Amino acid sequence: MQTTMRKSQTSAAIAADNASVESMATMSAPSNLHGFDLVKEEFVPEYNAKGFLFKHKKTGAEVMSLSNDDENKSFGVTFRTPPANSTGIPHILEHSVLCGSRKYPIKEPFVELIKGSLNTFLNAMTYPDRTCYPVASCNLADFYNLVDVYLDAVFHPKCIENERTFEQEGWHYELNDKDEDLTYKGVVFNEMKGVYSSPDSVLARECQQALFPENTYGVDSGGSPEVIPELTFAEFKDFHGKFYHPSNARLWFYGDDDVENRLKLLSGFLDEFDAKDVDSSIASQAFFKEPKRVVKTYASGEDEEAQKCFVQINWLLNDKPFDQETALAVGFLDNLLLGSSASPLRLALEESGLGEAIVGFGLEDELRQPSFAIGMKGVEEADIPKVEKLIYDTMEKIATEGFTDDAIEASINSIEFSLRENNTGRFPRGLSMMLRSLSAWLYEGDPFEPLRYEEPLKHLKSRISSSEDVFRPLMRRMFLENTHRVTVELKPDQKLGEIEANEEKMKLSAKKASLSSEEIEHVVAETAALKLLQETPDSPEALKCIPALALSDIPKTAKEIPSDVGSIGSTELLTHDLFTNDIIYAEHLLDMKTIPEDLLPLVPLWTRALGRMGTSKRNFIEFDQIINAQTGGISVSPFVSPIRGDPNAISAYMVFRGKATSDKAGIMHDLMTEMLFDSKLDDQKIFKQLVLETRSGMESRVQGAGHSIAASRLEAQDSVAGWVNEQMGGLDQLEYLRKLAKRVDEDWDSVVADLETIRKCVSSRNNSITNLTGDSKTLDLSLSSAEKFLGSLNQSAPASSANAWKTINPAINELLTVPTTVNYVGKAANLYKSGYELNGSSYVINKLLGTTWLWDRVRVSGGAYGGFSDFDSHSGMFTYLSYRDPNLLKTLDNYDGTVEFLRNLHVDEDELTKSIIGTIGEIDSYQLPDAKGYTSLMRHLLKITPEERQERREQILGTTNKSFIDFAGALEAVRAPSAIVSAVCSAEAAEKAKSERPDLDFQIKRVI
Ligand SMILES: [Zn+2]
Repeated sequence: MQTTMRKSQTSAAIAADNASVESMATMSAPSNLHGFDLVKEEFVPEYNAKGFLFKHKKTGAEVMSLSNDDENKSFGVTFRTPPANSTGIPHILEHSVLCGSRKYPIKEPFVELIKGSLNTFLNAMTYPDRTCYPVASCNLADFYNLVDVYLDAVFHPKCIENERTFEQEGWHYELNDKDEDLTYKGVVFNEMKGVYSSPDSVLARECQQALFPENTYGVDSGGSPEVIPELTFAEFKDFHGKFYHPSNARLWFYGDDDVENRLKLLSGFLDEFDAKDVDSSIASQAFFKEPKRVVKTYASGEDEEAQKCFVQINWLLNDKPFDQETALAVGFLDNLLLGSSASPLRLALEESGLGEAIVGFGLEDELRQPSFAIGMKGVEEADIPKVEKLIYDTMEKIATEGFTDDAIEASINSIEFSLRENNTGRFPRGLSMMLRSLSAWLYEGDPFEPLRYEEPLKHLKSRISSSEDVFRPLMRRMFLENTHRVTVELKPDQKLGEIEANEEKMKLSAKKASLSSEEIEHVVAETAALKLLQETPDSPEALKCIPALALSDIPKTAKEIPSDVGSIGSTELLTHDLFTNDIIYAEHLLDMKTIPEDLLPLVPLWTRALGRMGTSKRNFIEFDQIINAQTGGISVSPFVSPIRGDPNAISAYMVFRGKATSDKAGIMHDLMTEMLFDSKLDDQKIFKQLVLETRSGMESRVQGAGHSIAASRLEAQDSVAGWVNEQMGGLDQLEYLRKLAKRVDEDWDSVVADLETIRKCVSSRNNSITNLTGDSKTLDLSLSSAEKFLGSLNQSAPASSANAWKTINPAINELLTVPTTVNYVGKAANLYKSGYELNGSSYVINKLLGTTWLWDRVRVSGGAYGGFSDFDSHSGMFTYLSYRDPNLLKTLDNYDGTVEFLRNLHVDEDELTKSIIGTIGEIDSYQLPDAKGYTSLMRHLLKITPEERQERREQILGTTNKSFIDFAGALEAVRAPSAIVSAVCSAEAAEKAKSERPDLDFQIKRVI
């Protein structure tokens, strides 16, 4: 073994950590409180944070201020906004307040922030009972800019005076010509049409409303497309006046910035308000005396296969939020019942053969009253009672027999591991804490309470180990003896989509018929006026109001992730010396180019089958429990990507990933070996279930995220790597799964043989790469076990390694039809193939398109929920995509218009700087250590050198107006006839598009 490892500052880092714990614990409240009272101060050891709860004297606004050494600073302002109906007021308001404010009187300050800020998070969320505006950034000046824009937006939005914003974001009548049919348009209107087209979200909504028929959770805060057009501007304005007031606000600060500055900034906004009595309390839903049943329908496709039902049982668990220890106990119970695929409730359902996949969220504890839900989809109508009986029987059995000690141990370890890791992925840790705190704070509880888990956890563990019967009584109380229970059945209706579309048409034609010719002229004029406004950009002078960073605030050199490349025997070894709190993150990459082309679509099923049927050493439940008891998880997935510079080069690996504390690295690697070599692959019943579940997940994706399906179709026509990914995760995969379901029944032996072939192909050490992330001590402790894993691989090259992947799909324009009321439209071409050479300025331009031309045309005036472009710098594919789009051909025209837009664009100095900064912010995005290690691995695989990254960075920083004109030339390829189109839409929309544009020679393909 030869590996050079830099000695890290681990021990120094730990020492520094301890020192900061001391200084945090003794940190005192600021001396100048800027008009706030200090209500409570606490040290939260779980996050090494000193916390203060302040109350603004004048208005009563509450502020949680947490300080620790996290550079990813976060802020949020949350209002309770319980709606009284399903017109979507809170949701439309959430969109609208970000469209200009007193201090920032431009069209969309939010978009300007997306363009030119270093934010690590920037969004807004509407919940059933609250609206939340969170931001985060690692750069102090940037962070305060974001906070300032958000506070001004919520307290002084222009949308309450400007009806046009309401029309644009909410709804309006559109009539481009007096002879045209009247239609509804609006961003939220269309967003919600998309939501209502997905049967899974229909189920979720029906369940919530059935569980809470009498309080605010019984209506849809997002808005029902049928009801949204009933909302008036006056109601909208009143809603803002009532709820967006400091007296109804909960404000949150977190990170390494100064507490006094936070208060000063806040008092600048809050001081001008007086206290107000805001009744925003969330009423409790009274408990049902007996269980209920609700039967509803959803718009289904025409196929026999598509005629499947959903059934879900829902329980209301308490009349208020749980106290911390009950919350933890119920959290454990949830994990024990459903947390892993070996959990008894999940296992019973999955192995029952009664449905395709599990639905229901398990425990929901973010609203005022916690609830629990479980059920299945893809169920035959006659089997609905069987699913219900199985759920109750399984619960009864658990309540009688209890959980095994092994199950409890596995559950405790997996929860403790995730608390230690505190891995919130791309979501800032401070905001994840805020959401947790709000689960009590929003309902008059103590905001500190949900942040502390160490004491209650210790207490709960001692109760469990003293053999107190914790879970069985809880099972009875929460589920079996609980009469507040609703069973929701959702049945297919082939005609429903058509009926609803007709109702909307009739409503609109009746409306038009009721209008006088002057009134019709007026609607036409209003439509034109709104479009004109939407398509007129803010002047450069107006845009200057948005606080911006200077280029000098941006580091000129690219930040490198610590990375050492060495080897471990014949395997290439990458190590990343980063502080990970004693956790080792390991990735072992095994060459998968050895897999024959025709077996590629089977690869995702193979990864899911590993371990799922048990191993030669233990059954599935034992295998799953030992993984959870000893590690933070093990997973297997394929990775396939093109490499820039060589159209035939592909990086393709089967990635074994695992994480564990360093003392468990050995057992983690032993379990990986067992998973790869000893997993059984011959259980027909379980495999069939995996096929159905995967198929059902793919079908939901076509309807809910059609843009990703379209994008994959386009890539499969361009490169072999794209084709391979389409086989494993696109529409080709779905079609394969449909055939596979039959093949499992008819020719199971050949399926098993194929699964074994895949195992043989990826079991070789030849071309393997190992990637380890942790501090040097953790790395040292893990290396020998990693080597043992690699030693267990076949040391010779596999016989089939001569296989070469060659196929790509033929280039055609495709319309993929599903039952839906919205479209997902994609168009693409490969820029490298038409001679474009990668320049960093393309990142700036691509980002700018998504916040200017495509945003304005496809979203703002087109009425789609989203429109953007994607440039894959590895393959050279440039792809336009739209999301929940009312248009199809018009969107294609807008895509084509991009070339002229860029040619005629003159970006002034400030705008250009902003775009450059925003782009750098994206490529420098904040990452937790495991993500850093993985990113560094990706760069290595895709052959991106530090020199190249620096060169790209300099090109980004050097972007000029000429870059835009040059790129317009490159984009000619995407409007040329050779560019390809792929869209997911309804059958009706497809026929219409085909007949209007015969030149595009659309091929229509029915998917569902
Ligand atoms: Zn929205």
